[in-house]
Amino acid sequence: MAEQHPADSVRSLVIVGSGISGLSAAVYAARAQLAPLVIEGSEPGGQLTLTSEVENYPGFEDPILGVDLVERMKKQAARFGAQYRSDDVVRVDLSQRPFTITLGRGGPVRAHALIVASGARARLLGLPGESELFGRGLSSCATCDGAFFKDRVVAVVGGGDSAMEEATFLTRYAKKIYVIHRRKELRASRILADRARSKSTIEFVWNTRVTAIHTENSLVSGLTLEDLETHETKELPLDGLFLAIGHIPNTEWLGDQLPTDDAGYLLAEAGTSETSIPGVFVAGDVADRIYQQAVTAAGTGCIAALDAEEYLAEHDLA
Ligand code: NAP
Repeated sequence: MAEQHPADSVRSLVIVGSGISGLSAAVYAARAQLAPLVIEGSEPGGQLTLTSEVENYPGFEDPILGVDLVERMKKQAARFGAQYRSDDVVRVDLSQRPFTITLGRGGPVRAHALIVASGARARLLGLPGESELFGRGLSSCATCDGAFFKDRVVAVVGGGDSAMEEATFLTRYAKKIYVIHRRKELRASRILADRARSKSTIEFVWNTRVTAIHTENSLVSGLTLEDLETHETKELPLDGLFLAIGHIPNTEWLGDQLPTDDAGYLLAEAGTSETSIPGVFVAGDVADRIYQQAVTAAGTGCIAALDAEEYLAEHDLA
């Protein structure tokens, strides 16, 4: 249930997003006694909650579940005074100070400083009816949904690290996994590509794009594929389709108040989390086109909190 904070007239710091970047910012800001308010958003805990085991977060010799890592961080920040509100930010007004943050359910919140840590979401192919098929054979998270495809035939679209990880993970369940990639070379790192290549149940389909998703009884039942060299098309019957074609930064609620790059990722001053608006800072995948790792999200969350702390102290607003 959403917590109510009567003292919400003006907060020192509001953090939008409760993934690793937002929570890391919350740990640092709370420890600096800024009592940050974290607006959790529509996917509390962020993308790490869609993964299973995390093996590359420093400090954990044994794998830790993504949801557990997030939960620990949330409690860690709460111990120092971070507060959480289970709500979505609909829009924000950065043209006047303090900033006004309009929420979907609760009343507006005003803040002297804002950390934008709203993350990114899975990219879709843009085919008709695609979004309605989520949960009906279409997924962007093998670790969440792979178990539903035991002894089934599935495909993964993409040629990056995510596609390799998804396909490799799916070998635990599916009897056959096609990796459909629009080029001949993989973008994925060598180690993940080699791991996928070594699996006998994974078959790569090169130079190919998906032009249609077919359904039977409203469930995914097959694809139409186009060979991008010959332009020949063919049908591929299957039971599940996993999309691993990158992400889109979640910035709609900001309108065009902050500058972005051509892919929509927010831009920060080099080496800092500062944006073009003093008092507004960025952290995590919403401003990270390249690395998109839990540990880089944590690092930028820390940077944003330190920058916010300095800004608030300088302006006597803490
Ligand atoms: P990515 O590296 O951007 O790869 C996206 C893939 O999807 C590319 O192969 C791209 O094709 C393809 N693609 C994009 N749009 C498409 C479309 N409309 N139709 C068909 N294919 C399309 O994204 P990612 O794999 O999600 O990785 C994102 C970042 O996270 C990367 O920096 C990656 O290294 C990192 N990551 C790391 C790990 C790990 O280390 N364990 C795991 C997952 C992700 P092209 O190659 O032709 O562009």
